[in-house]
Amino acid sequence: MKINLKKIEKMGDPTRNQKILLDDIFIEKNALSKLPEIMNTYYKDYQSIVMICDENTYNIAGKKVESKLPNINTIVLDPNHLHADEHGVEQADIHLKKIGKIDFLIACGSGTVHDITRYHAYNLGIDFMSIPTAASVDGFVSTMAAMTWKGMKKTFTAVSPRFVLADTEIFSKAPARLTASGVGDLLGKYTALCDWKIAHAVTGEYINWDIVNWEYDILEELVQTLDGLSKNDEKAYENLMYGLLMSGLAMQLMGYSRPASCCEHHCSHLWEEAAINEPIDFYHGEKVGVGMIICTQVYKKALSYLKRGDYTLHASVDVEFDLIKDNFKNEILQEEILKENEPNIMENITGKMLKDRESDIISILETLPNVTTMMEWINKVNGCTSMNDIGLSEDLRPLTLKLSPYVRKRLSFMRLLKFYDFYNAVIE
Ligand SMILES: [Zn+2]
Repeated sequence: MKINLKKIEKMGDPTRNQKILLDDIFIEKNALSKLPEIMNTYYKDYQSIVMICDENTYNIAGKKVESKLPNINTIVLDPNHLHADEHGVEQADIHLKKIGKIDFLIACGSGTVHDITRYHAYNLGIDFMSIPTAASVDGFVSTMAAMTWKGMKKTFTAVSPRFVLADTEIFSKAPARLTASGVGDLLGKYTALCDWKIAHAVTGEYINWDIVNWEYDILEELVQTLDGLSKNDEKAYENLMYGLLMSGLAMQLMGYSRPASCCEHHCSHLWEEAAINEPIDFYHGEKVGVGMIICTQVYKKALSYLKRGDYTLHASVDVEFDLIKDNFKNEILQEEILKENEPNIMENITGKMLKDRESDIISILETLPNVTTMMEWINKVNGCTSMNDIGLSEDLRPLTLKLSPYVRKRLSFMRLLKFYDFYNAVIE
């Protein structure tokens, strides 16, 4: 599958500096066999090349990379408790320091290995290549490294890979849970796009419709090919990897994650912060998929209230500081959350604005697929569809929905719902 980056870049607005930072992307069977040719064409001058992988990804892909590029240095990380955190970064750093001068890095693995590699590539001021070993997340081409730093979720400025070489032979054989996680992360765009469109309708927030429509096409293709994933159809896997990489490119073009992340990711972030729950150890896309489902349940309930029309709205809504302080007990985390809410992203929004935009909001909510359909999609890949599935008590649902819109400075419909008198009824 050859991807036309020039065509994709055309969707960007040059006056907003919206551009693609990659030389190319290959998604195909035996893509790794093209490595020598690619290095020769694009990165001929690089002498000292280092690949970062973990023991698992070394066995399934790293060895093959070494056979194609015999002169590279390889860092094999211990996969036990390997996370994109200060320990993972340190583990790679020890080896990188021993090697000395490095011209180019190769990330060979899933999301964690990529975030560790992009963190170091940025700090070393060098480029890197992505070799994803599972279609598990949409962050491979991210310019940010999503890390847990000393227990806190943090995104660091980092670099996008210059090249993505995705070998179907490898990522189509990844553990099924990783693939299901990729499906959850990608389907999550349904609520993310719904939130973006509503925020645009209510506040006039910038939106790029070319990107929005393109993402819907990608989602449509994903849904059409979901059956193929359980039948090990390589084309279905390529399509999932394509969708994830394109979602990443949508973020890259925009320069931030608006096209790919809102209420569903807010739930996932909240659970990862373990403020209201015990820490859980599930994949990113598993949490995002569940976030999408519980948010959609709320949005569809709200839709029926909106259609009935017999509701009232608060004139304005303040940040619920007490709710934040009561639940984010960890002082550093609490301070960070309070900072995210300074100023209140809803300070210029009034109940009247929401009433005036009622018909727009209704039609946007109507385009959101219903919960049963979403569950059927996720069930096709044996993914997670409920809070119980990811080790959380269903009792935490109302608090999750109330608190999660505060974890990031980004307007969601979940946050706007606080204006409506039916708010408590829909989040129960
Ligand atoms: Zn995500």
